[in-house]
Amino acid sequence: MSQLIDKNKIVVITGAGISAASGIPTFRDYNGLWKRYPIEKVASPHGWNDDPALVLDFYNQRRSQLAQVSPNAAHDAIVKLEEKYQVVIVTQNVDDLHERAGSTHVIHLHGELDKARSSIDEKLIYPLNGKPIKLGDICDKGSQLRPHIVWFGEQIHHYDLACAAIKRAGKVLVVGTSLSVYPAASLLKKARYHAEKEFVNLDFDEKPRRFKLLKGNAVDLVPMVASSWMAGEKLF
Ligand code: NAD
Repeated sequence: MSQLIDKNKIVVITGAGISAASGIPTFRDYNGLWKRYPIEKVASPHGWNDDPALVLDFYNQRRSQLAQVSPNAAHDAIVKLEEKYQVVIVTQNVDDLHERAGSTHVIHLHGELDKARSSIDEKLIYPLNGKPIKLGDICDKGSQLRPHIVWFGEQIHHYDLACAAIKRAGKVLVVGTSLSVYPAASLLKKARYHAEKEFVNLDFDEKPRRFKLLKGNAVDLVPMVASSWMAGEKLF
């Protein structure tokens, strides 16, 4: 299968850990928040049907927090890779820190916080530019707007596109994910045997099969990986 790999293609798979140093809590760190906003109420179609005002309030607050934070050194280092490689980012994050850092090709598997979509037609998507969604805000077909977020029980976005990119990649870098959300976590298995595969995580003892574990903070390790790849070196 190695003949299918393109050495100039890098896929970076990111999770909440890459944005942690920017001040966005990871899933686990949301513990306190989930008490006020139980996850099944704010991240499921059932919760939306029961109490749309609560759901909108939750995501409106997350969106205004997002406007207060900035990309960090890990996001910036991934942008730099585009000077030498074709880089595709496959992210589980709903923040826009990769785009704000300057990355040009970002696939969002779980949606985007700064967008709204129709509650009857998922193809009708609208930019929010930091604004809240209110009850009564409607799409072009007249139905209530909802957050453009993939909730539990809903199908993730662009999975086939992400698989195709990973299968071609000569290098795969995974950053800051607990690999607890499927099917996003299963994407790692699509990386080719001969691709260089690195896994960066602050707190992870078991590495995924055939990946090298780099244990530490993304803001330190991602720039290190990126500069060796820019120098054309393998890491170890
Ligand atoms: P997760 O919270 O389950 O796991 C985060 C992982 O990052 C953990 O394994 C942790 O050890 C690691 N980590 C934390 N800080 C780190 C750092 N500074 N450097 C390196 N690693 C670090 O996140 P997940 O795997 O992305 O899955 C959670 C789900 O929650 C996803 O679906 C995602 O959409 C959503 N979420 C998104 C955001 C965001 O958009 N920024 C934030 C929280 C949750």
